Amino acid sequence: MARIVVLGAGVCGLAAALMLRRDGHDVTVLERDPAPVPDSNEDAWERWERAGVTQFRQAHFLQPLGRIVLEKELPDVRDALVAAAAARFDPLRLMPPWITDRRPRPGDERFATITARRPVIEHAIARVAQEEVDVRRGVEVERLVSNGVAGIAGVRTTGGEDLPADLVVDAMGRRSRLPAWLADVGARVHEQSEDFGFLYYTRFFRGERPPMLGPLLMAIGTVSLLTLPGDGDTWSVTVLGAAGDQPLKRLRKVEAWTAVVRACPLQAHWLEGEPITEIVGMGGIVDRYRRLVAGSGQAATGVALLADACACTNPSLGRGIALGLRHAQLLRDTLRKEEPGRFAEAWDAATEAEFTPWYRNTIQQDRERLREIDALQQGLERPRPADRQGAVRAALMTAAMVDPDVLRAMLAERCCLGSPTALDEPELAERVLELGRDAEPAPPAGPDRKQLLTLLA
Ligand SMILES: Cc1cc2nc3c(=O)[nH]c(=O)nc-3n(C[C@H](O)[C@H](O)[C@H](O)COP(=O)(O)OP(=O)(O)OC[C@H]3O[C@@H](n4cnc5c(N)ncnc54)[C@H](O)[C@@H]3O)c2cc1C
Repeated sequence: MARIVVLGAGVCGLAAALMLRRDGHDVTVLERDPAPVPDSNEDAWERWERAGVTQFRQAHFLQPLGRIVLEKELPDVRDALVAAAAARFDPLRLMPPWITDRRPRPGDERFATITARRPVIEHAIARVAQEEVDVRRGVEVERLVSNGVAGIAGVRTTGGEDLPADLVVDAMGRRSRLPAWLADVGARVHEQSEDFGFLYYTRFFRGERPPMLGPLLMAIGTVSLLTLPGDGDTWSVTVLGAAGDQPLKRLRKVEAWTAVVRACPLQAHWLEGEPITEIVGMGGIVDRYRRLVAGSGQAATGVALLADACACTNPSLGRGIALGLRHAQLLRDTLRKEEPGRFAEAWDAATEAEFTPWYRNTIQQDRERLREIDALQQGLERPRPADRQGAVRAALMTAAMVDPDVLRAMLAERCCLGSPTALDEPELAERVLELGRDAEPAPPAGPDRKQLLTLLA
């Protein structure tokens, strides 16, 4: 049994804490936000003050990988979500009607998920965690305590209390200050960050949930539309675009936002509900990757970076929680297998093998989309793919709309199931390219750039 201090009681910090506690470790979670866990889902949505999670009331979707991890490791959290009327969603049901081969394939059940508004997801896990784990809310960590250069032996809170630990888990999210604290004790952190990204303009609704006529996330010229089922009778609609796109700032106004959604034939009916928020905007989201490395300084031991604190991206693909839950499972498994003296190396290897590749895959897709937006903003043609991999990706959606197995391969990648390089498999790649070549160009799914600017004006 190890003494483990988890910093941050977000979804992934709490998931790790629960899995580690159930493996017999002595686990304490420290959370800066003081608000106690609300009594009900609706209280969580209406009143839970979570300043530490800026995206708390932004659109969220739980990818099937997240549901799979919950089902295996934390079935009681899954049950709590079901009890909270989480939406059941299976993207295979969106298979276009003209695909005639509708026979099920082995493993189809992996695509199904349950999903809810973010406060409701966090509420479900927080209620379970507080029964089993020592979660101290309103306790802010100030720095690390080291036992010699780079050997982390615990943390100090802003209240001056020292908590000794065999392992400190950084689950402080995308704005974690751990790298600065590590530098203070002479440990090196490798950090890459890019400040390019997307702006999100989201509105939540309630009513009779609209039928899904298109994919959850659909690129429409220089914006994308994200339509997500929520728990109970709720859902969200998000218009997202590139961060530097000044006219999009007008999407903060309900009229402009509504006009844009109304002009998208596959999503317009998602406006037919009772709005339960104004337009919730968010930007300034950085892609960041961190790794504890040896170099001129020393790699820290006794500390593990988890989920967003390790790597986070612009969340256009909605993968953060699912990957964070998988990372928590991986942490538990690594601790099971490794001697304490070998943990740092083994955790780095496991993260690089299972977690980082999805981060890179997400970044690659975001870059391609931003290049496309950039060209369309300037009135140019869509940029030609730089390589074969890019060509496969460009043809993927078209091919998936006519071939049931390509559809499954695309969904598996979207949902973080299997390997992020599965689409590079030569036979599959060739099939995608062939189907992409033969396809008729898709009709416009909404406003082009000129029409968008008119709507925004
Ligand atoms: C706009 C937006 C939309 C998103 N949509 C999706 C989606 O659809 N699907 C999805 O899966 N993911 C989505 N994500 C990503 C998802 O929100 C994150 O991956 C997830 O929140 C990571 O959880 P976490 O527990 O690692 O960190 P967080 O949820 O960020 O929690 C970190 C916790 O650490 C605490 N903390 C920070 N500093 C200290 C300190 N010094 N001492 C003590 N506590 C501290 C904070 O208060 C906070 O509670 C989205 C993100 C954004 C920005």
